[in-house]
Amino acid sequence: MTFAHRPKIELHMHLEGAMPPEFALELAGEKGVDLSASIEKGQYKYQGFLEFLKTYEHVTSVITTPEDYYRLTRAVLEQSAQNGVIYTESFIAPDFCGGGDVAAWRDYLAAIKQAADEMEREKGIMMRAIATVVRHFGPDVAKKIGICAQETAGDFVTGFGMGGDENVGKQGDYKFAYDMAREAGLGLTTHAGEWGGVPSILQAIDDLGVSRIGHGVQAIEDPKLVDYLIEKNITLEICPISNIVLGVYPKMQDHPISRLKEAGVKVTVSTDDPPFFHSTMNKEYSNLSDVFGWNEQDLLQIERNAIESAFCDKETKEKLFKQIEGR
Ligand SMILES: [Zn+2]
Repeated sequence: MTFAHRPKIELHMHLEGAMPPEFALELAGEKGVDLSASIEKGQYKYQGFLEFLKTYEHVTSVITTPEDYYRLTRAVLEQSAQNGVIYTESFIAPDFCGGGDVAAWRDYLAAIKQAADEMEREKGIMMRAIATVVRHFGPDVAKKIGICAQETAGDFVTGFGMGGDENVGKQGDYKFAYDMAREAGLGLTTHAGEWGGVPSILQAIDDLGVSRIGHGVQAIEDPKLVDYLIEKNITLEICPISNIVLGVYPKMQDHPISRLKEAGVKVTVSTDDPPFFHSTMNKEYSNLSDVFGWNEQDLLQIERNAIESAFCDKETKEKLFKQIEGR
């Protein structure tokens, strides 16, 4: 099976983490920054999770201005469109876009949205933004991010999420920010159950009231939690290649995505930080087919799941359903 032209829906991708290495080098060159410690032969280099974080921080430090984010967004969406992605939701952290200041965040967003609008016209790919809390900056900073999200909620910023170090604090510590986002009508998601175990997923559902969970793969350890995910209609944003590269599971055969799907959990597939994991949506699809024997129907199911769970309006969803079903 070839997957290149299959229209795809992606729900879990970090804008900075999707930066193509060649773009990072171009930007670094213009700014006189040396990235040779982090990029080798056109690829990001690191070994293990801690070095991954260091490399990530080093290379993303070159993206600083709204203009940089405009160019980054174009470069990222170009790559996504090449993989057949027709709709993507991207995590964007106000902490990195203006330090959590609402006025500055608006400027960054305007630049990102301008790039997204252009790419929609040029390549037919749609993008929505998930305003994202950096968990290890703590709950007080998160409140400021809640305000940023509330002030800019609308057609483009449609979701609220949290990433960063899962070992810092508890999900419930961030309830205030999530309540603000909910009041603003934003869709809610958080990273849980990637490194954190079963309790982190339960807390995400019960304490933050999210409808989606980033990763959530550790739920497989507890059949009761699997039932709870189904009962609550929670969607998992699963990023299989990311989980293998970072060592959550030793090899793809061990990954629980197929078991979760078989059990009836609403699973979707995304790339997380694609160039860091040498992943693309096409590679994710071919793994699912090669390793788990997923066929057309299985893939159509995850695409439908993704549209149903997307943080966009009904009209956009109807458009997307037509695109995946009318091919
Ligand atoms: Zn992620």
